[in-house]
Amino acid sequence: MESSEAVKKLSEELQKLPGIGRKTAERLVFSLLKSKSQQTSLLARALTYLVEKVKLCHLCGGITEVEPCAICTDEKRDKSIICVIEQPLDIALLERTGSFNGLYHVLGGTLSPLDGIGPELLRIEQLIKRVKEGKVIEVIVATNPTMDGEATALYLSKVLRPLGVKASRIARGVPVGSDLEYVDEITLVKSIEGRREI
Ligand SMILES: [Zn+2]
Repeated sequence: MESSEAVKKLSEELQKLPGIGRKTAERLVFSLLKSKSQQTSLLARALTYLVEKVKLCHLCGGITEVEPCAICTDEKRDKSIICVIEQPLDIALLERTGSFNGLYHVLGGTLSPLDGIGPELLRIEQLIKRVKEGKVIEVIVATNPTMDGEATALYLSKVLRPLGVKASRIARGVPVGSDLEYVDEITLVKSIEGRREI
């Protein structure tokens, strides 16, 4: 299978993606080789397009092709509420529920002292800036209900309180220790509706 340098290289790169081991990577490479070359070229072009055009919105940190993103500039959205999430992907999950009409703010992870991740490595400064500049009334902290996610929510409530903004936490409908990614939409809607002040 790895008699070709190109095959080896692609297989190695695929294995760096989440959930892809050596066998899966090799199966994917083999499938690409088998499929019509036009299909493989389309994939290559899509990847190039992704790298060239897609960036992170400087305001919310979400994935976008225009700056600022369509959500940040949408006149119909409620600019008094900001929902804080860990990853850009979480925006898509919440948008799919159609139950949240405010703005988002991607932290880029959670505080994790054991891994050396302090506040300065997350987009907390930018959040404080947005709260200070805008007409924000409430910040909903929707970090995952893991230990680090809870610690981050607590930290945010401490830094936000002096700014006169209400900080709330999504309800416990989301199972402890789980990722928002694996929660069904109804649970997600309920967890936002049932948020409590922190
Ligand atoms: Zn944005």
